[in-house]
Amino acid sequence: DDISPSAQNEYDRLLGGLLIEGFDERSCRSRYQFARYHKSERIPSPYLIERLRRQEALQKKCGPGTKAYSTAAEQLRSGQSINSTTDCKYVFLIIHAGLGNRMLEITSAFLYALLTDRVLLVDRYKEIGDIFCEPFPGTSWLIPSDFPLSYGEFTMSSPESYGNMLQNNVINGNMYRSLAGVKPPYVYLHLDGNYGFHDKLFYCEDDQQFLKDVPWLIIRTDMYFVPALFLIPSYQEELSKLFPEKDTVFHHLARYLFHPTNNIWYSVTKYYRAYLAKADKIVGIQIRIYEHKGILQRNGPFPHILEQILSCSQNEKLLPEIGVTDEAAGKNRTIAVLATSLSSWYGDEIRKKYSEHQTVDGTTVKVYQPSHEEYQKSRNRKHNMKALAEIYLLSMTDVLITSGFSTFGYAAQGLASLTPWIMYRSKNHAVPDPVCGRAMSIEPCFHQAPFYDCKVKRDTDLGKVVPYVRHCEDVSWGLKIV
Ligand code: GDP
Repeated sequence: DDISPSAQNEYDRLLGGLLIEGFDERSCRSRYQFARYHKSERIPSPYLIERLRRQEALQKKCGPGTKAYSTAAEQLRSGQSINSTTDCKYVFLIIHAGLGNRMLEITSAFLYALLTDRVLLVDRYKEIGDIFCEPFPGTSWLIPSDFPLSYGEFTMSSPESYGNMLQNNVINGNMYRSLAGVKPPYVYLHLDGNYGFHDKLFYCEDDQQFLKDVPWLIIRTDMYFVPALFLIPSYQEELSKLFPEKDTVFHHLARYLFHPTNNIWYSVTKYYRAYLAKADKIVGIQIRIYEHKGILQRNGPFPHILEQILSCSQNEKLLPEIGVTDEAAGKNRTIAVLATSLSSWYGDEIRKKYSEHQTVDGTTVKVYQPSHEEYQKSRNRKHNMKALAEIYLLSMTDVLITSGFSTFGYAAQGLASLTPWIMYRSKNHAVPDPVCGRAMSIEPCFHQAPFYDCKVKRDTDLGKVVPYVRHCEDVSWGLKIV
């Protein structure tokens, strides 16, 4: 309360201390402008801020272009196992999948790097540099182009994968050492949705102890594996210091890490000011469809999905019902709906409905949809830029309705700190019952979560081990932090 307005502005601009001054503003406008469009009630802990500063120092000390990096890369090139451990250890993330997935996987890898005192480097060939600014000062998080391993060839069956090394008895996680007596210079961690039993032992305490001093960990994942880190005993104390409010992991880390590049940010803020800013309330509706009737009708039109969207928004009183206007209630209120979808049909139908009829309380409802790309094109730069812009626009709304299963929606809700209404996945082209429900928290869901008790060595329900890791609302076998 005794904080002056300018100190408050400074605090907001730096997202409560997540960010530091000193980056060039013009080359990445979104970094210091984000707070203007995103208020947050969630306060990062002083310890998280301290650890971020320490991580920045580590990234700078060990990052590309340093002596430490060349030494570490040289060890990979020569394929030599090393006995002496240097101060610099690395997590290198191979990036793939859609934009939402990428944000979740980068955040997971970053938290893992933070917990294990490793430098995070990311794949440079997946337009990451085109869509996000550098998050760390005075260094780059992009892996240099002369990185010695052809990591593009790593798959589930690569002999270098941790799962395969365990299975083939090259190493033995329980004994904290490789059978040859020395640790390999790198381990490939296959943590994609299709992974197997041995790959998933990554989430076990003993295996973490083994991986501790392997200089390079190369991770391929398309998931938000953070909830599993909360179940590993040796990380629990640190995690509760970093995140006294457990359900803010993605919220704080995504705000820290992701700053859309100028072109994207310009289109986001321009669209926001032109169509959304003036409304009394902004309702975001993220429509992602996973069922298809043959290849040509991937995104419908599916009348049952339109019905689901309208029932959810009207039953939950997020949008007004159509009907005879009670004149007294109409106070020239306007609601802007931001619809995002690969298809234009749903937004068009909602727009038609509200422009052809009056609402019971006299509210005017306007529907906007920035793009309709028709189908997913993960390798297309313009397409990815549009997708990221829409994730950020969704995160600027007041109320969010998302499609279950979709990481696109998770990213938006987490950036915003909005607890969404989740539309459940429909089966057999029928409207599900209930149509939607309020999420338990703003955290993303970890889809292909493990279900193994590492200590007693048998399958178990990991959604029942601690009160703050539960099964997701939309993916019954998934895990999320609440
Ligand atoms: P998920 O597949 O729903 O979990 O989300 P991802 O973001 O990982 O992958 C979906 C990809 O499809 C996105 O990255 C976009 O390329 C595209 N996409 C899906 N929904 C939308 C949308 O509403 N708008 C735009 N522009 N692209 C979308």
